[in-house]
Amino acid sequence: MILLFGPPGCGKGTQAARIARRFDIPAISTGEMLRAACSAGEQQGEACALVAGGGLVDDDLVNVMVERRIARPDCRNGFLLDGFPRTLPQAEFLQDLIERRDLVGPTVIHLDVPAEALIARLASRRQCPRCGQIYSQPGTCDTDGTDLAPRADDRPTVAERRLRAYREMTGPLIEYYRGDGYHRIDGDRPPEAVFQQIESLLEARLVRVHVARSR
Ligand code: AMP
Repeated sequence: MILLFGPPGCGKGTQAARIARRFDIPAISTGEMLRAACSAGEQQGEACALVAGGGLVDDDLVNVMVERRIARPDCRNGFLLDGFPRTLPQAEFLQDLIERRDLVGPTVIHLDVPAEALIARLASRRQCPRCGQIYSQPGTCDTDGTDLAPRADDRPTVAERRLRAYREMTGPLIEYYRGDGYHRIDGDRPPEAVFQQIESLLEARLVRVHVARSR
């Protein structure tokens, strides 16, 4: 289990997709699941208003979503969580789930990017409205040619609120996870360099976990 941590705009989505391809595991983004549920009308009311406005939705709602998702067969050989846990109660829920399901403890990757760089990144970030792929600048989608659009919650006022939610609610989780399995990565570098570092640490970690489990 890989947990990808970092503030909005730090490159989590890009790295999550690459890690998923390289290690053949699903990348599960609670933000994407919530946005999809809201646009399909499966989720309504307060939760969708919070997603659109940059606040955090109720812990119980996200916890249930994650528990159901990781019970699916494609998660049997591991999975990556992008954007979960985001609060201490979510981290405690995940710990309980790990114990109940006898899962391997998480490898935590913290993508650290200074606040000034994040605002600029969020302002130029674009998303393909059709396939959801994130790009660092305006243009058209490489996959389906659709014109890229800003993500609604990247607008400056909402982005500020998301950054604040990260600082206040998610930042303290770094302390919760610090120790074995926690890795801080400098995310303020080209995506390729960031990925190479993540790839080598995950390869080394996989070998260690495999050896430990086969003893
Ligand atoms: P993201 O795509 O990860 O930036 O998430 C988009 C939005 O979804 C966030 O601003 C929150 O409103 C909501 N969200 C995603 N994950 C969580 C979570 N673990 N806990 C609470 N709210 C979440």
